Amino acid sequence: MRIGLHVHVAGGYHKAVEHAKNAGCRAMQVFSTNPRSYRRSAPDVAAVQTFAHLRRDANIEQCAIHTSYLVNLASADPKIAAGSVRLLHHDLEVAATGDIGIVNTHLGSYGARDRREGFKAICGALESVLREIPANVLLVLENSAGSGNLAGGTLEELGGFVRSLDHPQLGVCLDTAHAWATGYAIDSAAGVERFVENVEREIGVARVAMFHFNDTQVALGANRDRHWHIGEGNIGFEGFRALLAHPQLREKTAILETPGSDADDLRNMQTVLAIQKGLGVCHPRGSC
Ligand SMILES: [Zn+2]
Ligand SMILES: [Zn+2]
Repeated sequence: MRIGLHVHVAGGYHKAVEHAKNAGCRAMQVFSTNPRSYRRSAPDVAAVQTFAHLRRDANIEQCAIHTSYLVNLASADPKIAAGSVRLLHHDLEVAATGDIGIVNTHLGSYGARDRREGFKAICGALESVLREIPANVLLVLENSAGSGNLAGGTLEELGGFVRSLDHPQLGVCLDTAHAWATGYAIDSAAGVERFVENVEREIGVARVAMFHFNDTQVALGANRDRHWHIGEGNIGFEGFRALLAHPQLREKTAILETPGSDADDLRNMQTVLAIQKGLGVCHPRGSC
């Protein structure tokens, strides 16, 4: 697998790429702007293109934008729904400008809405976004931890969106902590095998554009979203080893969204790279 970090770009793209490179990343993920604001300005074309050059120089092959946490495509409030679609358009435009291959988004919450009605609303919003999606960018839907009325907690539901929309530029991102919180026991080789079979059946492994690798300390099926350091939670070394070793996942990208400082980032990257090295399953162009 191609491993990377979610990196904060508040200190500038230069610093962000430097941090990713120092940690041994072959991939990285960023927010395009403040993830808790609806406000968006036109992309700074020069800055975003410089970011692309910096990544190329640092051998970072894959980059993703994580959309704002405010995105709620299931909202019954037309203002929120329209604002969410605008946020997606914005990030897709930034991605296209900066040679960023993936835009990853949460779907949002059904709230008090009937789930079937909410599902249709999400499909409608995604359809309008996909009608204008720039070439060379994938829109990727992330599985949720399933808390409250969050959309896309189960593989079946996430696959439902992919099947309904059936667009070549639509994929999914599977967050390991969210999968665990939704009840998928990915803490052993057998559990990971069942999970991958389930992914193949409900979504298709080919549609998985990316993983978010996060361990978690919550109980299996607890529907709580708490990220923890790799190998130090309930998924544990065994779970991540099985994911990294799985032959169908070798060519995938995994982004770590683990908590803490830069030093914690380095430690988590080292843990994953060491597991890969032990398995002899570095990404073909990887350096571990
Ligand atoms: Zn996310
Ligand atoms: Zn999460």
